[in-house]
Parts: sequence; structure tokens; C-alpha cells
Amino acid sequence: MQFKGEYKDVLETREAMAREKMRHAVLCAFCHVVQTTGLKPMAVLGLAASAIGAIYKDVATAHICNDDCPCGWEPQTDPDIEALQRAIAMEAKQYTDLRWLKVAGKA
Ligand SMILES: [Zn+2]
Repeated sequence: MQFKGEYKDVLETREAMAREKMRHAVLCAFCHVVQTTGLKPMAVLGLAASAIGAIYKDVATAHICNDDCPCGWEPQTDPDIEALQRAIAMEAKQYTDLRWLKVAGKA
């Protein structure tokens, strides 16, 4: 049983490191595009979301058309896209909630 707990800890640590790496990479790309194009933040965030959708399509297509990958992922477009949308909403709403807390704290 302890082995399962340690394995879970390893997975959580690995996921936390991956989350931070992705956040850093996307933030760097976001800042670079904002500074070099003059586009507004929401336009650039829309481009980032489109890029995620395009990456999803490419990777899912590769898994559907070619079962050589050992990871075992079987793409299911609707639930997969709903999961991606939920992930965006969850993170974005945490930020929004913090802003409300800040405003409420000043009242
Ligand atoms: Zn795979």
C-alpha cells in the first residue's frame, strides 16, 4: 500500500513539474507574440487556444491513424475537448475569483 502512495507522489510531482514547464513555455510565447505583433492580450490568448486545438487534432489523428504509439491513448474528440475547455475555465476562473477577493478586501 505504501508503494502505491509513493507512486502517486511521484506522478503528482511529475505532473506539477510538467504543469510549470508548460506554463512557462506558453507564457514566454504569449509575451513574445504580444510584444512583436502589438495584438491585444485576448487576441493572443485566442491564438494560443487555437494552437492547442491544432496540436490536439494532429496528435489525435496520429493516434487514430497509427497504433504504433505505446502510450495506449485512444482519442475521443468530444470528451477530450470538453476536458481541455474545463481545464482552461478552471484556471481562468481561479484568477477571476482572486480578483474578486482583492476587490472585496478593499471594500
Ligand atoms: Zn501515444
